[in-house]
Amino acid sequence: MKVLIARFNHETNTFSPVPTPLEAFSPTYGEQAYLENLGMRTAMAAFIDAARDAGATLVTPVSATANPSGPVQAAAYEALAGRIVDAAPGCDAIFLDLHGAMVAENSVDGEGDLLARVRAAAPGVPIGVALDLHGNITQKMIDNADVMVGFKTYPHVDMYETGQHVARLLMAMLSGQAHFSVRWHRLPLMSHTLRSTTLNGAMQRAVQAASAAEAEGLPAVTVFAGFSLADIEAPCVSVVVTGASSAEGEAAAQAVADRIAAQIWTERAAFVYTSEPLAASLDRAQALAENAKRPVLLLDHSDNCMSGGTCDTMDVLQAALARGLRDITVGPLCDAEAVQTLIEAGIGASVTLALGNKVPLTQLGITKQPLQVSGRVLAISDGAYTATGPIYTGQRCHMGRTVLLDIGDAQIIVTERPHEPFDIGVFQCVGLAPAAHRFLLLKSRMYCRPVFEPLCHATVECDSPGVTSSDYTLFPFKQVRHPVFPLDLL
Ligand SMILES: [Zn+2]
Repeated sequence: MKVLIARFNHETNTFSPVPTPLEAFSPTYGEQAYLENLGMRTAMAAFIDAARDAGATLVTPVSATANPSGPVQAAAYEALAGRIVDAAPGCDAIFLDLHGAMVAENSVDGEGDLLARVRAAAPGVPIGVALDLHGNITQKMIDNADVMVGFKTYPHVDMYETGQHVARLLMAMLSGQAHFSVRWHRLPLMSHTLRSTTLNGAMQRAVQAASAAEAEGLPAVTVFAGFSLADIEAPCVSVVVTGASSAEGEAAAQAVADRIAAQIWTERAAFVYTSEPLAASLDRAQALAENAKRPVLLLDHSDNCMSGGTCDTMDVLQAALARGLRDITVGPLCDAEAVQTLIEAGIGASVTLALGNKVPLTQLGITKQPLQVSGRVLAISDGAYTATGPIYTGQRCHMGRTVLLDIGDAQIIVTERPHEPFDIGVFQCVGLAPAAHRFLLLKSRMYCRPVFEPLCHATVECDSPGVTSSDYTLFPFKQVRHPVFPLDLL
């Protein structure tokens, strides 16, 4: 038995100005792709383990994953999708570790087009797909997969288990014990990422309903929150059920998809995040900081580089300083030009320079002016650290050359590369202890929380004009099919 196993992941924020060339994926091929995943917590690793247990011969044409950013460049999409398609003929089963929200310059439905091409290259061969909970599911994806399972957690911690789930079902199909097909129900509902956590609220209840349906015997039930920062026909919530491929099985699968979709629709308002004005958030933060023994966390979720953000917007810091907030520590701000200037000046030097706001937010029609600041270089580092967890524990992280700049009312970590602050190492690598200060400003949505919320007195979510803002009025959606909630209040 010969099986194809590949990984090709991208969550595309079509409003992001950050380009996505081939290099962004750090792709590995063949034996290297296999070795890279071995022992990891990826869905591909679970595929590898299951295929080896079954004594299969493995074909691993590619493993490629990039941080969320703008549309995948056409050449990159062709190079990576092409390798998977070319490897498909002659295989007995196909296991794909995909995201589900990929848009390429030459494919508005990255996964749907890939799956259709794989199906055409290997007709009749079972295809199993593991997806991220934020996948934007399409009919083309459904039509060209036999088994489809997505993560049940956000923050995502069950990638490997999702791969195992896909592998279990596809192996049952290969042995002739079962035959599956996929049914689904898509809702005209664009959820906000901040409302797609599975730790509480309506999304948690929807995922609980999916798990309950599996416990009652359905092979696989997934609630996809979708990724709404994509100007495509339906960046929407959907429920996907893998059921037995029989009239009865398909009816049962469809009924479950419809039932959970109805539950979500009833609770649709709970998937929407209402942004408060930045000034109100900062006033709240200031009040919370009075008599607090620990910092107040200012969460700038509108510029999260792990959702396509530029990691260089200055709105929250600028407004905080203007409102009189003092003693602020700021997590990574990406400005390679400033890093160069500060390193040339050297430790202890006083420097006046233009900081941040350098990448125009073209899709939003926003160009900002850098902030003019004067300050002193306190520390210079290579920006490399090993994550101590609990997120990405043990991972070696590289922020590029990194400088700690003190501008009086704020101490700012300036880096050469965008980096989400999901670990205390961001601060420790320049000798800064954020817990000793009054405010902590981080550009993140979810992944900073397990590390930094316990260090802080309270968290205040701050919205501002950025490509990962939760304020949908900033985004010029043109392709989205109407009516859709909440753009059109249904
Ligand atoms: Zn996700």
